[in-house]
Formats: sequence, C-alpha cells, structure tokens
Amino acid sequence: MDDSSSASRSFGMRTAAVHAGHPPNPCTGASAPDIVMSTSFIIDPGVAFSADEITDETRYAYTRWGNPTVTQLERKLAVLEGAEECVAFASGMAAITALFIYLLGDGGHVVMSDVAYAAASELANDTLPRLGVQVTRVDTSDLQNIRDAIRSDTRLLYLESPANPLLRLTDIEVAAKIAHDAGALVAVDSTFATPIGLRPIDLGADYVIQSLTKYICGHGDAIGGALLGRREVLAKLRPLAIHMGGVLSPFNAWLILRGAATLPIRMAAHQEGALAVARFLEGHSLVTRVIYPGLPSHPQHELAVRQMNNFSGMLTFQVGDGPRAAQLLSERLQVLHYAVSLGHPRSLICYLPTNDLLRTSFHLTPAQELSYRSFAGDGIFRLSVGLEDPADLISDIENALAPLS
Ligand code: PLP
Repeated sequence: MDDSSSASRSFGMRTAAVHAGHPPNPCTGASAPDIVMSTSFIIDPGVAFSADEITDETRYAYTRWGNPTVTQLERKLAVLEGAEECVAFASGMAAITALFIYLLGDGGHVVMSDVAYAAASELANDTLPRLGVQVTRVDTSDLQNIRDAIRSDTRLLYLESPANPLLRLTDIEVAAKIAHDAGALVAVDSTFATPIGLRPIDLGADYVIQSLTKYICGHGDAIGGALLGRREVLAKLRPLAIHMGGVLSPFNAWLILRGAATLPIRMAAHQEGALAVARFLEGHSLVTRVIYPGLPSHPQHELAVRQMNNFSGMLTFQVGDGPRAAQLLSERLQVLHYAVSLGHPRSLICYLPTNDLLRTSFHLTPAQELSYRSFAGDGIFRLSVGLEDPADLISDIENALAPLS
C-alpha cells in the first residue's frame, strides 16, 4: 500500500490502520514495521546541515531531523487523519507548543475553548500572554460565542472536541467557516475522538492535534504527539520542531505504530464498553449526572451523531458526595485503576474537583463558571472506559460505591 498517495485514502480505515506508512522492507522483506534506533546515518558529503534545508528528498542524517521509524508513523497518521502531512512530537503538549510558537510566537490573537485540556489551558493562560498574544477564551460549543470573539486580527481558532473534561462538542464545520471568513486558521485537538471518531480536516480544520499517548498508542506505554495538516504549512513548521527538539523517539514511534494498527477495532470496543457503562451509571441511584456523547441525554447528542463516527470511550459522571466516592473508588476498585490519562486497555478513573480546576487551569468569567458547573457540579469523575468486559467494569464500580448506598 503506497502510504503517501491519495489513492491509499480510498482504502477503509481498518486497512489503512494496518498497512499505511510501512510497506514491507525492500531489503529484508520484513512485513512488520522496522525499528531504527540509530541517531546518525551515513551521509553524502554534500548534505545540508540546516533544518531549514530539509526537503522530502533529503536522506536521513540525524534522528532529531528525521528517522525512518518516525516517518512510518507520520505517514500512517496522515492517511488515517486524511491530512497531507504529519509531524510527530515527543508528546501531545510538544505538538501544541510548536503550533502556538509557529503561529503566535510574535503575538496576535487566538480564540480558544474556555475549557480545554488543563496543560493546554495553562499554556494559553500563562505563557501566550508573555509572548504578546491576546487570548480570548469562550465556550465554543455555542457558535455565537465564536462569532463574537473572532476579530480581524485573529490568527487561530483553537478547539477541542469532545473537550477535556466536560465532553462538550463544537460544530467544527460551521466553526471553521466562521474562522476562515475572518481570515483565521483552525486547529482541533481531536485526542478524545481519534480519526476513527472525527475527521476534522474533512470538516474544514487546518490543523489536527493528537496526543498519541492516548488512544492511538492505545496501550498506556508510550508518550507521543502529532500535528497534522497541509504539506506546505507543515514543511515550514518542521524546522521549528527540529530546533525546539521535542522529537518523538523511534522506540516510542514503533510502539505507537504497533498500537495504531488496531485503533479502529479498539475504538469500536471502547465505544461499546462506554455506552454500556454510561447506561448503567444513568440508572444508578447515587449518580446525579452522566455525560457521554453517545447518550441521547448529552446536550449535543444530535451534533455527536452528525459529526462523529464513533463516540469514543470517555465519559464523565457526578455523584452526591464526590470526594467520599473518590476515596472509596481509589480504595475499593479491583478492575479499574484510579489514575489519570485515557485511551488505555485498562479503564482509568479519576475525580476532578471543580474548585481546583477553576483555580489552576480554567480562568473563567462568572457566566462561564456557571456553565462549567452546570456540567460538572462540584466535581466530576472522568472515566476512560477500557477494553475489559463491560459487565466486570459495572460490577466493580457498583461494589466500590456500595458503602455510599
Ligand atoms: N490533548 C488532550 C485532549 C489531552 O487529554 C492531553 C493529555 O491528557 C494532551 C493533549 C496532552 O498530551 P500529552 O500528555 O501526550 O502531552
């Protein structure tokens, strides 16, 4: 399968996930992807020494500039995401930082979801203003907020859909049109959805961000990130990524390649498990609210059905006494792990107290705080439903919460 050709995009997602990016090794015939750990490569004396002069034809010279195993992963991800190009990074945050520095390093205006992954939020709140960037945070699930916030000097509309941790969605097609009409670019952090659930580029986004650490690796054993988009733009951004140095290690690229091959079938199982657990929680006497895009009770379920091909494995829920329930879950769960992160085979759960997050990560206006609390109350459990039997997860949660009943 010729990974970089547009023809490969006519294959189904399962075929692309298995094959794209790594045709059999022409020298050895190896069918599985190679892992090339070498930091240095034999070069011609005439090879350019500046990252600015790297082209598609440049041979490998030094692994911070490019590495065959990392290239294999970048090609696979580009095909899955329907993007022309992909640059891999050491983490999702390294990808987000590179995008911010590339587009906003000398100032400008960005419109960003008021609630987005905590570290991205803190970077936008604390660091971007120090670069002279004006940051407007709005609830992008309401498109009017985007219309009102976009200015003639807005360079970037930054979205997360579903957003961490509220699982609010943004109508990407309409949001992208609003941004483009004003001359701004659109980036979507699609980590929760993965390309199996959402294809932001097909909906008009210019950039997609993935924390590969999550579903795409899928095994909870490698950190990585990716930025995807148009070839000409990413060719300009790549030298910055090389200079900043947050590149993906070949070993992690290989682990993530191995995980990515099963992404479509894993996402189907994550969705099935999440739907079963979400339905159970909706019927549980202690649970006051469940938020899952796949449930008709999600405030944007209609958009989820229209925009997403898979609702993913992420859900949140509230109980009356969150801190006590958190203590019980951390002490009594036998199957789920009480831990941060998501997208692993193991189900992971943790409690996110609202006051803590509002103090550290989300600097919300009173109206935004009201809206946050309407989703999260005093705190929510964020549950990444893994690949275990849903019945085992349900009985594990039921047993752990039993002393509260
Ligand atoms: N984006 C989202 C939505 C996330 O949930 C995370 C991490 O949890 C990141 C980005 C950052 O990814 P990483 O931990 O790989 O830097």
